[in-house]
Amino acid sequence: MHTDATTVNVLSKRVLTLAESETLKMARMARELRAQGHDVISLSLGEPDFDTPVHIKEAAYQALKEGYTKYTPVAGLPELTKAISEKFKRDNHLDYEPEQIVVSNGAKQSIYNVCQALLDPGDEVIIFAPYWVSYWEIVKLSGGVPVPVYAGVEQEFKPTPEQLEAAITPRTKFLLFSSPCNPTGAVFSRRELQAYAEVLSRYEYVYVVSDEIYEYINFTAEHVSIGSFPQVRERTITVNGFAKGFAMTGWRLGYMGAPKFIADACCKIQGQVTSGAAAFSQKAGALALSGDLSPTRAMREAFLRRRDLVLSLLREIPGIRANHPDGAFYVFADIGEFFGKSHGHIVLQNADDFCDYIMKYAHVGLVSGTAFGDPNCFRLSYAASEGQLREAIRRMKVALERLRG
Ligand code: PMP
Repeated sequence: MHTDATTVNVLSKRVLTLAESETLKMARMARELRAQGHDVISLSLGEPDFDTPVHIKEAAYQALKEGYTKYTPVAGLPELTKAISEKFKRDNHLDYEPEQIVVSNGAKQSIYNVCQALLDPGDEVIIFAPYWVSYWEIVKLSGGVPVPVYAGVEQEFKPTPEQLEAAITPRTKFLLFSSPCNPTGAVFSRRELQAYAEVLSRYEYVYVVSDEIYEYINFTAEHVSIGSFPQVRERTITVNGFAKGFAMTGWRLGYMGAPKFIADACCKIQGQVTSGAAAFSQKAGALALSGDLSPTRAMREAFLRRRDLVLSLLREIPGIRANHPDGAFYVFADIGEFFGKSHGHIVLQNADDFCDYIMKYAHVGLVSGTAFGDPNCFRLSYAASEGQLREAIRRMKVALERLRG
């Protein structure tokens, strides 16, 4: 964002203290290199490279033909809130009635609504770190104080229940995390989630916001929703959406299930701010949830093959310590061993320097872990073809072999 003395006086403190997206910086560098004729492989995006399944697109065409071109109820079309309620019961053992569902313009807006509805200035939100960047900024935008609880690669990026408990204060409003996790790909098991629920059973005023947008991109045998544990059932807000599992990022459709008074509060906010999601997106979303899941399964299988490919190729680069992600489409790798190494006058001090170096010398776009609360790591998105992944990692290896020190 360009700011100078005059514009600073015009803009709000709120926006001036908002961080700019790290991925935008990488996108700018990629553009510059491409303009110079270089072939840049971008592995920085949080977006499936597949197209939306055909039957879902057909449902949207049909909806437009049928006149779904008007405002819908703020919380969503009844057929969609009903389909979501059924999906929560069928897949997640969660009992949200249709009146407890709010459909929004993406899971991102669901999280924003919840933060706006629950946070007063100074309220604390515990965020498992590494975290999805927007959690931090949305909490800040809503006047809250983000409280990171960090776990590194040696803990598979999963904080212990003791770490969670140590972070709770009388100002804690809720715990916010994603499973499967962006950026680490970590999937929290039944046992791990149960341990968190047990901690929270001792703090009845602490709510949970569980972001499950990567639910369908899970390579373990089961996806567990923390809201299904009786200790936190009544105070869990479960966020989900269509962007990842159905490759529908551009449809801007997400949802949450919440205690009724929180759902009502979110509706009140949404009613003043967006009036709700697009009618034809909602019609298609209802069909996606109750329809054929085989394209979703095929995408998951493709992601799994790519994950294995990326892990095996990264293993051939000494110094890169990758985790073994069980879901989403990211590898989050620790590169602390490269810090202090140099190439000519360039010295790598942190993950930002590492990613800049890889962009400049390998023409591969990664995202620095700094943005996700871990300056020792980078995030690689394998939502790219196998050919691109092989070539990108080959180039990374060559560039890293040039480092000395
Ligand atoms: N949560 C997480 C963890 C995400 O990675 C993303 C997308 N990058 C979202 C929420 C936002 O999803 P949507 O496109 O539905 O707003």
